[in-house]
Amino acid sequence: MKNKPVKCSQTAFTLLETLVVVAICAMVAAGVSLGVTQAINDSKGRECSANLATIEGAKDEFSRDNPGVALTSLEQLKPYLRYGVPTCPAGGVYANVLDLNARCSCSLGTGNKPGFHSLAQP
Ligand SMILES: [Zn+2]
Repeated sequence: MKNKPVKCSQTAFTLLETLVVVAICAMVAAGVSLGVTQAINDSKGRECSANLATIEGAKDEFSRDNPGVALTSLEQLKPYLRYGVPTCPAGGVYANVLDLNARCSCSLGTGNKPGFHSLAQP
């Protein structure tokens, strides 16, 4: 009696094929997370721009309601800001908040990206 060679009908991935698939998945995941991080940073910059516009609006309303009165504290602005004095969502510091003659700005708005951490329109 002769032994017949048993044919293996199961197919499996080789180690190399598995590594290639894992590498492709890692590259896709890296690209997606990079895009999401950029989108989050952009949205924070836009939110900061909206905050600066809100502060400017409150300053305008204050100066219309109190002509000739100097703005000396944030308490004077609070009646014009329904949700309190906004802050930069990315951790920037606002300058000229109490200066009625200068536009307020964010410390992170130094880049040349209009509409991100600045009052400049994109
Ligand atoms: Zn900012």
